[in-house]
Amino acid sequence: MAFSEFSIIDEFFKLDAAYGRSPVIDIGDDCAVLDVPAGYQLAVSTDTLVEGVHFLPNSNPEYLGHKILAVNLSDLAAMGASPAWVSLAITLPSVDRAWLAAFTKGFFALASRYSLRLIGGDTTRGPLSITVNIMGLLPKNQRLTRAGAKVGDDIYVSGSFGNAGLGLLKAKLPQADVKDVDVAAYLRPEPCIELGEALLPIATSCIDISDGLSADLNHILLASKVGAVIQHATVPFTQSVLNHVQQIGDAFWPYSTGDDYELCFTVPPDLDLSAIGMKIPGQITKIGVVEKGSELKVSQANGELQVLNKGYEHFS
Ligand code: ADP
Ligand code: MG
Repeated sequence: MAFSEFSIIDEFFKLDAAYGRSPVIDIGDDCAVLDVPAGYQLAVSTDTLVEGVHFLPNSNPEYLGHKILAVNLSDLAAMGASPAWVSLAITLPSVDRAWLAAFTKGFFALASRYSLRLIGGDTTRGPLSITVNIMGLLPKNQRLTRAGAKVGDDIYVSGSFGNAGLGLLKAKLPQADVKDVDVAAYLRPEPCIELGEALLPIATSCIDISDGLSADLNHILLASKVGAVIQHATVPFTQSVLNHVQQIGDAFWPYSTGDDYELCFTVPPDLDLSAIGMKIPGQITKIGVVEKGSELKVSQANGELQVLNKGYEHFS
């Protein structure tokens, strides 16, 4: 705590939280103390958002509060973990009560939705930067990783791609409107927590798409020591993304844009996911198969194959 006003923590961060798992020792001591339930393991992840690097200067603080949590929840989703606890390190240029009220509104709205309990943090003065350390629970020795994809597995994705990339372009315009689906995808991503939990007993590998479908699917291929072929025509793109692709004349643009926070996962061949049915929330789409080798190939309608491993940066 670098501010003289300790009251900021009491006023904005120390809620009488009626939700989530109560820590043994809560905010206010030197450490929080947590009880991991018997038969579970902790999944832990950290992400930072820096003003001017990860978000535009003077961004809406309520959306920032949502997004810092959403990007961290997305990492839990990718492992199939259930949200439990979170700590928050925030560096603020000044004490702006309206800003803090809006930020914590966005933060706690999403946290309470997933019974995620804020158990500590740090508050310092400096250029605006927000770091979240998130903890989730996994049944002992069960987890989704990047390393389990097998030759013959089907490759699926949730949602659609390129919307957040397009949203970033739109967010820079003066008429940017969060009611636009692309702007919303960029400013207020929704983590796929329920999907990750449903996939835990099913998927052979999983990753969340933060750096783009090409980059992140390549992480699965590298970790699993396999290759893949994607059918371009099956990859889910909204009309707005298709229009943008046509405008810039680069069909592979949505493969290289990030921030969508959808899941990409593999399942054993011909597994009937519709039979598992109700357990799989949201839209999922089969986009390809895992094969031998190490390349990520995209098969176009005319049968041409485009390799998207090294050199995909070319498209960004
Ligand atoms: P210390 O100096 O011992 O690290 P601090 O004065 O930084 O303690 O913090 C006091 C208490 O408030 C600690 O329990 C800490 O976890 C908590 N805390 C500080 N900042 C935040 C924050 N932004 N959100 C939640 N808890 C916080
Ligand atoms: Mg401290």
